[in-house]
Order: sequence, then structure tokens, then C-alpha cells
Amino acid sequence: MASSTCPKCTSTRFEIKEAEPKGSKYKVMFVQCSACGAVVGVTDYYSVPSLLEKIAAKLGFKLFA
Ligand SMILES: [Zn+2]
Repeated sequence: MASSTCPKCTSTRFEIKEAEPKGSKYKVMFVQCSACGAVVGVTDYYSVPSLLEKIAAKLGFKLFA
């Protein structure tokens, strides 16, 4: 499998960073190059799958058997 590289500096190391973009009501998490900081992806501040699992558990069923 090919290794993921930063499109700006070709580093192969990435990190996640909390961010609050202007105009957004919600915090997000940037996936960025740990060498130069170029943002290569964005994900929700909260892990949606994890939240769904907790809600399902409160409702008394398991999402994943
Ligand atoms: Zn980079």
C-alpha cells in the first residue's frame, strides 16, 4: 500500500489538532502534517461512531454484535 504523504512538503507524519474555524459554531479536528502543518483533512470534534454507540447502549441495544 502506498504511504500517505503531505502534498506540500512530502512528510509522511500526521497529527490531529483541535480547531475553531471562523464562522463555525462547532469545534472540529484538523488532520495536519506534523512537519509543516498543512491541513489534509477535517473530522468532527466528537467521535460520531462513539456517540452513537453510547446512545444505543442507553436505549438498550448494541450497534455492533
Ligand atoms: Zn507537510
